[in-house]
Amino acid sequence: MTLRLHNTRTQQVEVFEPLNSEKVTLYTCGPTVYDYLHVGNWTAYIYWDILVRTLIASSYRVERVMNITDVGHLVSDADEGEDKLEKGARREGKTAWEIAEFYAEDFVAGMEKLGLLPPEHLVKATDFIDQQLDLVRILKDKGVTYQTTDGIYFDTAKFPSYAEFAHLDLAAQKAGARVEQNTQKRQPWDFALWKFTPAGENRDMQWPTPDDLLELPTGSAEIMGFPGWHLECSAMAMSILGPTIDIHTGGIDHIPVHHTNEIAQSEAASGQRFATVWLHNNHLKIDGTKVSKSLGNTYTLQQLEENGYSAMDLRLFVLQGQFQNEGNFTFDNLASAKNRLEKWRSYAVLRHQTHDRLDDDNQKNDAERGSISLLAASGALREALQDNLNTPEALRVIDQAFSSLDSCRLDDIHHHGLIEFIRAIDELLGLQLEQSTPDIDDDAKRLIIERQRARDAKDWQASDRLRDQLAKKKILINDTPHGSRWQWA
Ligand code: AMP
Ligand code: ZN
Repeated sequence: MTLRLHNTRTQQVEVFEPLNSEKVTLYTCGPTVYDYLHVGNWTAYIYWDILVRTLIASSYRVERVMNITDVGHLVSDADEGEDKLEKGARREGKTAWEIAEFYAEDFVAGMEKLGLLPPEHLVKATDFIDQQLDLVRILKDKGVTYQTTDGIYFDTAKFPSYAEFAHLDLAAQKAGARVEQNTQKRQPWDFALWKFTPAGENRDMQWPTPDDLLELPTGSAEIMGFPGWHLECSAMAMSILGPTIDIHTGGIDHIPVHHTNEIAQSEAASGQRFATVWLHNNHLKIDGTKVSKSLGNTYTLQQLEENGYSAMDLRLFVLQGQFQNEGNFTFDNLASAKNRLEKWRSYAVLRHQTHDRLDDDNQKNDAERGSISLLAASGALREALQDNLNTPEALRVIDQAFSSLDSCRLDDIHHHGLIEFIRAIDELLGLQLEQSTPDIDDDAKRLIIERQRARDAKDWQASDRLRDQLAKKKILINDTPHGSRWQWA
């Protein structure tokens, strides 16, 4: 089956066709590292991890860039207010550099816990200052920038299709523009490419503005400045991946401003389409409310762990929704994801309890046993994801395939099919079923055999004693009409 994805640019689900038939270039807007990420942020990165896994399963090689915004993201989208990094530095009595390093490391640690595949290029905005200045230079040479007292701006009037991507109603925006906004902007939605450090402000992160970028001669004094947030993404994407990338991802909050501006400055500079496909994840709410620091309802990965939940529980919770639908985080919802994952692990350990005989396996007729074919289920899983990353459907396929094992004798389960299926789940959904369900040791195996003998001899006392011994090893025994099975407690 071909891969189909919903493209925000065309507002349609389309068959995916990369520019280069083997390699897909992908850009993911990364986090601003001024604080811990919350479950909403992680939701975005979990979905883009599924995208990468689905591309790989569709036989593409993926080259992905993810930025780490460690400078220039202001608290207001209108190029006003403080830089989030500098604000974080004051909050914690550290430098912006220290804040960036600490939270970037925490982000990488969180990615590992969540089993997110590392991007080929995880790059910091502060390491791409020259590339960003080069981009400003190109735009200045093309005559689409202007200078104000506080920075160098992109003149959106020079990019006629500015409103197209997000279907913006600029007339309404103009009418609604607040009077106190930057009056030197030619249009209220023009945006800063490079901001000058305000007089009297002491910034940790700033760089000299090259003279040739300035319209007004400044005399001898150096004008210090820093990049605008939108510029970072365009400069990093184009300098690493080239002028046109196959897929660009981000949250729906990025459509009207951040991505609209990325498109304007990138396409004005290169004269080519910036990204072929744009994917946007919808937002996660918490208890039905917008996630917001001021409401105090943000949960970090650490806080979930303190409440007894793992990163994998969160991963499965997120996958229960499709990326374009709004999600709702509650601890009840997280608990049901945790239960579902535990149940799946109890099926995954059946691979240690079935026989490893290929000839035998091939004689097992799935249809006759009434169970669905595990090999077919692996294919169905991939097809669900290729259908616009339909993760809820993928999860349904897994539930159905696993529950069909309930009515099988262990001897009837297709051992290799089960192993393949678990690998497919891990490769496509990253749930780490294999590594979280090791085999039991020989001593425990012996206890299980003894217990079975005791049961056969109707020695219930001995059987209960052995069950307790196994429970101490965190091994639970389930006696089913089709025989006894063990699972990890
Ligand atoms: P930021 O660090 O603010 O740039 O956000 C990092 C990523 O998280 C961006 O791609 C946002 O679109 C995304 N994001 C922020 N809040 C949420 C949310 N509540 N649900 C899903 N994604 C979110
Ligand atoms: Zn971005």
